[in-house]
Amino acid sequence: MIPFELARPRSLSEAIALLDPEDPDIRPVGGGTAVMLMMKAGVLRPTRLVSLGDIEPRYAQLHVGENGELRIGGLTRLATLEHSSLVKEGWPLLSRTLRTLSNVRVRNVATIGGNLAHADPHMDMPPVLSSLGASVTISGPAGERNVLVEALCTGYYETVLARDELISEVIVPPQAGRPSAYMKVTTRAAHDWPALGVAVVLDMNGPRIGNASVIVGAATDRPTRLTQAEALLRGALPDDTAVLRDAGEAGAAQLDIVGDSHGSASYKKQLLRVYLGRAVRTALATVNGGTTPFEGHA
Ligand SMILES: Cc1cc2nc3c(=O)[nH]c(=O)nc-3n(C[C@H](O)[C@H](O)[C@H](O)COP(=O)(O)OP(=O)(O)OC[C@H]3O[C@@H](n4cnc5c(N)ncnc54)[C@H](O)[C@@H]3O)c2cc1C
Repeated sequence: MIPFELARPRSLSEAIALLDPEDPDIRPVGGGTAVMLMMKAGVLRPTRLVSLGDIEPRYAQLHVGENGELRIGGLTRLATLEHSSLVKEGWPLLSRTLRTLSNVRVRNVATIGGNLAHADPHMDMPPVLSSLGASVTISGPAGERNVLVEALCTGYYETVLARDELISEVIVPPQAGRPSAYMKVTTRAAHDWPALGVAVVLDMNGPRIGNASVIVGAATDRPTRLTQAEALLRGALPDDTAVLRDAGEAGAAQLDIVGDSHGSASYKKQLLRVYLGRAVRTALATVNGGTTPFEGHA
C-alpha cells in the first residue's frame, strides 16, 4: 500500500479546510467501509484521508425538527438509525430497509453521509430516502446548500458534491403513517446487494391512491423516479391488478436498464414488471396490520 497521511480534524470546518477541490486523491472518510474496499482494489490511492470520526458529536446524532422532520447528522451510523425508536415509530420504512442492508458489521460502522456520497447505484438507502422526499445539507467552504437525495447522484459513483464538500445532514420529511415498502430483490442472501430495489410511498385519498412516489435502484446508473408508473397509479384503487400490471410495464418501458453481475437487463426488466405491483400491495399491507410477505427479498 502506498503511504498516505491520515488527518483527524476536530470540527466540520477543519475537515472541509483539509479537503482540496482540485485533488481527487484527498478524500473524506466516514465509516471507511467503501473507502477501504476501494483502496484494497487499487482504484483509490489517496495521499490524504480526512477522517470525520472526531468532529463535533452532533453530526453523529439524530433528532426530530420543528416541523416534524427527521434530522440525521451526516456521521450517524446506519446501526444507530436502524435501532432508533424514533425512526421505528415515525419512519418505519427506514428501519425495515436497514435490516437487510449488508450485515451488522458494516451497519455498525458505515455512516449515512458516506452511504449517500458513495453513489453506487445498487445501494438501498438512496431510492428509499428519495421516495420519502429526503434532502441532504451539503457543507463546504462557501457555506451550506440543500439538495434532494433524488438529485444527488449524477452517474456511477458520481454526485453533485464538490471535492471539498461534505454531507453534514440528511433531512427526511414526516412519513406520517403513509403506506410504504422497499422491495429488495436479491439473488443470494436477503442482505446481499440487490439485483433490483423498488421503493414506494403512497399518499392515500380514501380507498384510492392519491399520489405515489416510486423510485427504482440497481437498474440504471442512478436511482430513478418512475414518473409514468406514478401517473398511472394516481387515482387508482390499489387492488386493481390491471393498473398495477400497467404501472409495472410503464416502469420497465421508461428505463434503459443495464445488466450487471446480479442480473441481465431483461431479467431486471421482468423483476420490475412484477415487483412494482408487489411493492404497492406490500405498502398497503404494512398499514392494514397484515403481514409483509414479500418485503425485504425475493
Ligand atoms: C460487505 C459489504 C456489503 C455491502 N452490502 C450493501 C447492501 O446490500 N446495500 C447497500 O446499500 N450497501 C451495501 N454496502 C455498502 C455500504 O452501505 C457502504 O460501504 C457504506 O454505507 C458506506 O458508508 P461509509 O461511512 O463506510 O463510507 P466511506 O467508506 O467512509 O466513504 C464512502 C465515500 O463517501 C465519501 N464520504 C464519506 N463520508 C462523507 C461525507 N459525510 N460527505 C461527503 N463524502 C463522504 C468518501 O470519500 C468515499 O468516497 C456493502 C458494503 C460492504 C463492505
